Formats: sequence, structure tokens, C-alpha cells
Amino acid sequence: MRHTVARVDLDALRRNVRAIRRLLDDGARASRRQAPGIVGVVKANAYGHGAAAVARVLEDEHVAMLACADVDEGVALREAGARGPILVFGALGVSDLDGIFSHALTPTISSPWAGRALAAAAAERGVVLGCHVKVDTGMNRLGLRHDNLRRTLPAILGASSLRVDAIYTHFATADDPESEHFARQQQHFAEACAAAASLGLPSVMTHAANSAALLRDERVWFDAVRPGLLLYGVVPPPLATTLDLEPALTLHSRIVAVKGVRAGEGVGYGQAFRADGPRTVAIVPAGYADGVDWRLGNRGVVLVRGRRMPIVGRVSMDMLTIDVTGLDVSPGDEVVLLGRQGRERLDAREVAATIGSIPWELLCRLGARIEREYCSDS
Ligand SMILES: *Cc1c(COP(=O)(O)O)cnc(C)c1O
Repeated sequence: MRHTVARVDLDALRRNVRAIRRLLDDGARASRRQAPGIVGVVKANAYGHGAAAVARVLEDEHVAMLACADVDEGVALREAGARGPILVFGALGVSDLDGIFSHALTPTISSPWAGRALAAAAAERGVVLGCHVKVDTGMNRLGLRHDNLRRTLPAILGASSLRVDAIYTHFATADDPESEHFARQQQHFAEACAAAASLGLPSVMTHAANSAALLRDERVWFDAVRPGLLLYGVVPPPLATTLDLEPALTLHSRIVAVKGVRAGEGVGYGQAFRADGPRTVAIVPAGYADGVDWRLGNRGVVLVRGRRMPIVGRVSMDMLTIDVTGLDVSPGDEVVLLGRQGRERLDAREVAATIGSIPWELLCRLGARIEREYCSDS
């Protein structure tokens, strides 16, 4: 077995789902309405956590739906045993359409073309296909333009082989407390929903909130929320929450060698670290091929013996070097790249910030080479 392992605590994941649900239940009760459901976002291999195992926990916790990025991910979820509805967010290619029918996926119609293609494919198979319509309220990415539904929606609503089960949108700036765009998108979505109703869309499921929007504004909870990052126990920066969440994934390795470096000598590629005196370095078998970002070279830290020790020199493909001068370490000692050790803690938000990235990227780039070790008491 390799030394570098991602541990995924499925109980932590389960507790995170329950904490989010408590927030939703409490908020809904206070405003006397029905609590929204949870659409559990498991795209990109469940943000690196492993889609199959995560999907099992989410379905066990009775999420309303799972959601993934494309048809292939949806097919993989079904093959892993997911039984509930699976929403596919992404745009559909021609070759994709088969999987929707063969694996009972719920596609998103985000363009007139997608509507026509799905209507034709469903008619050809003699079925009525349930789908969600995505409205672009200002992200200017996928979706039917909010101010143009009169032109685009009637063909979709009129297709007898399609059934629109939901209408949704996606926010571009919900994580930015300074941005007015979030409010503008809400306004556009309200207008779009009214326009859709006037065009004959019956009252259907409505959803909009990613993790940040879910935390920021109860008014966008609608019938369901779509948390991704939050499920995994990471709060979208720069937001804070009193929710009791914990990162489900931690990343561990072990020291494989320790050596002395003399004053003036360099370490690793480009000799990017130069010892200003006698130093002790330890080699850790985790590199950028494992998803440990190259930019952490000479910048990041890891935990060893409960202390933060700096990554020195460049991160290589398969290993990195840390300065452990003054610490009594030997091969076999545990190194934590994400997670806790003793009283110290290193989380995805902090590591991402170190390199000018975001926790979403950090998590979903964890390499396929890293073994996922699942733990759960239940
Ligand atoms: C990824 C995604 C989400 C989840 O976003 P988080 O910020 O991780 O909560 C929700 N909705 C859509 C359409 C997405 O693509």
C-alpha cells in the first residue's frame, strides 16, 4: 500500500448532512414554511471524496436528489448503486443522450437545442422524459436567458415527450458579501419564474442555492438547496458559519527518509531552497501527481509530530521535502497534509489560500493515485 492516503470519514459526512438539514428545518419552521430538500452535489467524484461511497451515505440520509456534472458521472453513480433521482447539471452532447434513458438520469435543459434534442430522443423511445430547466439569471454560462423565456420556453413546454419537473438557476457571487449581483440574480430569477408560470409552466420544484447562497439567504432556499462544498465540511471562503461541520476528508502520508543538508546546499529541482545553516529535511512521498499543488513549494506547511513544518524546495511529481530541523523524526512518522494532528489543524481553505486557489479545486484535484480509505462506525 502507498503511504499517501486520503481518509474519508463517512460519519463526518453524515453529520454534516444532518447539520445542514437542522439549519434548513429550523429556518423553515421559524418562517412557517416547508423545509427545503437537499440536492447532494457529487460531481467530480464527489469533490475528490469518491462518488460511490458518498452517494450511498447521502441516499441513506434521504437527500431529495443527487447531482453530477455530466451523463458519464450519472451512469457511474447508477452503476455504484444509486437508486434515487440523479440530476445532470451539464450541457448535453449528442452521444450523451443514451445514458439518460438507459440509466434513468434527469437531464438539465439549458438551451433550446438541448430541449429539441431531448424531446426528439424521448419521442423516438416512446417515453416522457422528466427534466429540469435551467435559467441563466446573470452567470452568463449555461441556461436559458432569464429575459428571453417567451422565445425559448414554449417549445420545451409544448413538447409532449418532455415533462418539466423543476426550474432552477445558479448564482455567480453568493460567496461575496460585497456583491450586488447576488440580489440582481434573485430578482431575475423571480421574474423568470413568473414568466414561466404565465407561459403555462405549472407549479414545479424550484431550486437555486449552492453552499454559499444556502448560508447567506433563506429566501433562495425554495424547494431544495444544492450544497456541494458544505456537505464535505468546508465553508466557502470568506464566509463563516456557526454550523457544526467537519471536513470529511483528511490527507495523510509518512516520512520515508530523513537527511542532513549542509549550509549553502540546495534541495530538489532548481535547488529552490538553500540551507542557510545545517538543516534536517524529511522526504514525503506525495507530489503534484497526487494532487499536492506544485505552488506549495517553499510556501506550504504540513503537520509532523503535532507541529507545522514548512515544505522546502519544489514539490516534485512524486514527493516533497520538508524542513524538520530540531524535530526528532524518523522514517514511518505520520505527516498530515490536510487534517488534524495533536492540537494543530490544516484545512482545505487555508491550504488553498496559501497558493491563491480555492478549496473546491484543491479537493477535486486530489489524484486518482491516492487511495481513499473509508471509515464509518455504522
Ligand atoms: C457545483 C454546483 C453546486 C454546488 O456548489 P458548492 O459551491 O460546492 O455548494 C450547485 N449547483 C450547481 C449548478 C453546481 O454546478
